[in-house]
Amino acid sequence: MNNSMSHPTLIRVPRAKEQLRRVLSFVENGATCCGLGARETLSMTLAAEEIFIYLCQNADHDQMIDISCSPQTYYLRLDFKFTESKFDYRAFNLTHETNFGVEEDMLAIGLLLASRSVDQLRLVREQQKLFRLVLVKEKTYALPQSMSDPSPAVVFECEPRIATPEAIELFAKMASYHLSPELLPQFFANPGKLRDMVASGEYNCAVASDAHGRQCGGMFWRCDTAKTLECYGPYLFEDQAGLEEQNIYTGLLNSCLKDLTRTPAIGLINRYPGAPLSSRDFEELGSYSVYKKDCETTTEVVYFRQLREDPGVKAWADTALEDFLLQEYRRLVLPREVEFIRPEENKIESEYSALTTSFQREQNVVTLRPLWPGCDMEDNVARHVCLLEKENWCNISAEIDLGIPWQAAFTKPLLKHGFIPRLVLPHAGQGDVVLFRRPTVLHCLVPAFVKNFEPYIPSQPGDVLKKKYNYDVLYRLNNNENPLGPPSAALRAQTDFSPIDSAIYPSGDSYHLRLKLAESCELHPDQFIVTNGANESITLLIKSFCEPGDNIITADQTYGGYEWVARFSGIDTKLVALNNMAFDPAAMLEMRDARTKIFFICNPNNPTGTYWSTEQLTNFLEQVDERCIVVLDEAYFEFVDKPDFPDGTSLISRYPNLVILRTFSKMYGLAGLRIGYLAGDIDVVNMIRRTAIVYSVNAVAQVAAQAALGDQEHIMRTREMVASGKDLLLHELSPLGLDLVNGEGNYVVVKLPFSDSLAYRMMMQQGVMVRMMTPFRFPNCIRITVGQKDAMQACVKALAKSIKQGSNLS
Ligand SMILES: *Cc1c(COP(=O)(O)O)cnc(C)c1O
Repeated sequence: MNNSMSHPTLIRVPRAKEQLRRVLSFVENGATCCGLGARETLSMTLAAEEIFIYLCQNADHDQMIDISCSPQTYYLRLDFKFTESKFDYRAFNLTHETNFGVEEDMLAIGLLLASRSVDQLRLVREQQKLFRLVLVKEKTYALPQSMSDPSPAVVFECEPRIATPEAIELFAKMASYHLSPELLPQFFANPGKLRDMVASGEYNCAVASDAHGRQCGGMFWRCDTAKTLECYGPYLFEDQAGLEEQNIYTGLLNSCLKDLTRTPAIGLINRYPGAPLSSRDFEELGSYSVYKKDCETTTEVVYFRQLREDPGVKAWADTALEDFLLQEYRRLVLPREVEFIRPEENKIESEYSALTTSFQREQNVVTLRPLWPGCDMEDNVARHVCLLEKENWCNISAEIDLGIPWQAAFTKPLLKHGFIPRLVLPHAGQGDVVLFRRPTVLHCLVPAFVKNFEPYIPSQPGDVLKKKYNYDVLYRLNNNENPLGPPSAALRAQTDFSPIDSAIYPSGDSYHLRLKLAESCELHPDQFIVTNGANESITLLIKSFCEPGDNIITADQTYGGYEWVARFSGIDTKLVALNNMAFDPAAMLEMRDARTKIFFICNPNNPTGTYWSTEQLTNFLEQVDERCIVVLDEAYFEFVDKPDFPDGTSLISRYPNLVILRTFSKMYGLAGLRIGYLAGDIDVVNMIRRTAIVYSVNAVAQVAAQAALGDQEHIMRTREMVASGKDLLLHELSPLGLDLVNGEGNYVVVKLPFSDSLAYRMMMQQGVMVRMMTPFRFPNCIRITVGQKDAMQACVKALAKSIKQGSNLS
């Protein structure tokens, strides 16, 4: 053992940026002492720099910080010890949202970078205001090359005994050769690392050899000062005669137990036993399923052995854990005084909570631990789960330390978000630790294209937003709705609808509405399918024509529905850049391959307002030549008053591969009733109809749409409103020096000198809700729905104020 290694060095410096050089050279020194490689040293100093700067930013005058550096044989550890009373702990959440351009948030990004460039980053709250931030960076070990039978080079004793450095390396090789990888912790893959772990004094290892000097088994364990230690094994490498096997097994276990008598450890935990352990030696703490890969799961059993009499310990737990805990304590015969806390007894002072996240990448396991209680615990847990699942972490654990009373407050939020208490780890923290896991079964059932799909998050209802942003009136300018509402005939149709008829299924094929549509478009009623919004038409089209391996083509900056449906259905999307804000026919045709099934054209385009003229559209259709379906999304058809703007339905007879989408959500003000339709060639539509579920369109929507269709007076009034709304916007926004993308449709896009999410929040505070354009691939842009005068004035005012604030920030 190299003892000079384990002594930490310490500096105490003021929390001031001028000290950075000193801190960094202190860290570099430690790295040299430890023998860390150049890359690892760089990551560690980068992390230290980010953290020190962050802590300086939040420091009071002449506050000090203790930094200690402990070089170990296989890693370098840095501890930052500091007191803190005011800083925002949210930044330590993995999910912390950052806003580029806001200086504090740039610092928070630094923290995230820091946490990702080291192997461990742990923030521990030691006392009320005393924190310890621990960073660990491990050395990199080369993997051994030969995996052929690693016969021993040296002759060992037959009796199991504490291993020499050479024997430890051989043990790692033998274990990796004879045992399947999931039976071993990841670090067994690196013989040099295993050797250094023992050299650090934190671990120990025993091996056994047979009469021919061949290593036949071994065991590895932690032996530092923790109250509960982990062990690995005993592993037996070859079949021996039964009695011999038993002797080796017992010999190895005894070597471990004897070694641990000189530590303060109360218990020994074994998660990697190699083979099921006998109940004579270990008790089962519990088990949980672990997702490996390719839809395979295994069950992991956690074993426990008490090493000395349990002194008992106090536990604080949420009442929701009462049954589970009492049963476990009874089963394991652990003497415990438990104080159950009802959730309403938790006095939460802070608005925001924080969780730490630690990753064990090799095992695909991530563990959440409470760092700070706050009113948003439930949301915070949900955000963490959502982010981790998106990043494909399949095994999500959480731990609550029963020795720290405030941690009980996290119990309800964890249970609510699918965590299940699996086992109690005695003395594993300040007190006992409860391990929670989220079930892994979902990961085996869900196709990758669904798992990897980022769900669409709709905006929250007005009353919820009101609480958050505290406005008086809210103008909804985010969804291109018509503020004039539905035409009056459609209003009447709804009030005339007899509520008692809700008991009766609607017409399954929107019979009467299709007759009226046919009449207005001069097509046959069977050439229409009425759907639950135009969105349902998009899903029907993709279901009807595409299978995995096929692709669709659309623009990169257009309505997101086409791409979303394709992606969560496992269909590739090819996105073609807009040309001068418009769909680019030549580039789209160039993208086509043998597996292209559908082109989606948004005409006019949401959000840029550009459109293809009749001539451009027919040219495109000629070149597509019936080899693909061309979907023309005319969601804003009724808003356009241009002589060269095509009416897609009039082209269906010439181009049977053309399908038209329309909706009652926009011009006709029926977005809440969810009704739209598609129209196409009769054979094409008959084919699509096979994938449609009858009764997806409700009865009220059908009568309202029927009454609304073709109401010219309503269309004219709306167009006039949009025209004067746009005039007002153009007139008022140009003095602000903002670029506007303005075309057809009831919307305009505004380019901002800062992030759209910041603008969104600032405008929300003033009661104006706009659409952030980052999801449309227009970063730093917002889309404004053009509406009535009062809304437009409120919008201009809110935008002007935001620009003023936003420009000061960036
Ligand atoms: C709003 C919109 C839709 C969806 O309309 P619903 O009928 O409400 O589903 C489809 N395409 C475009 C371009 C839209 O703007």
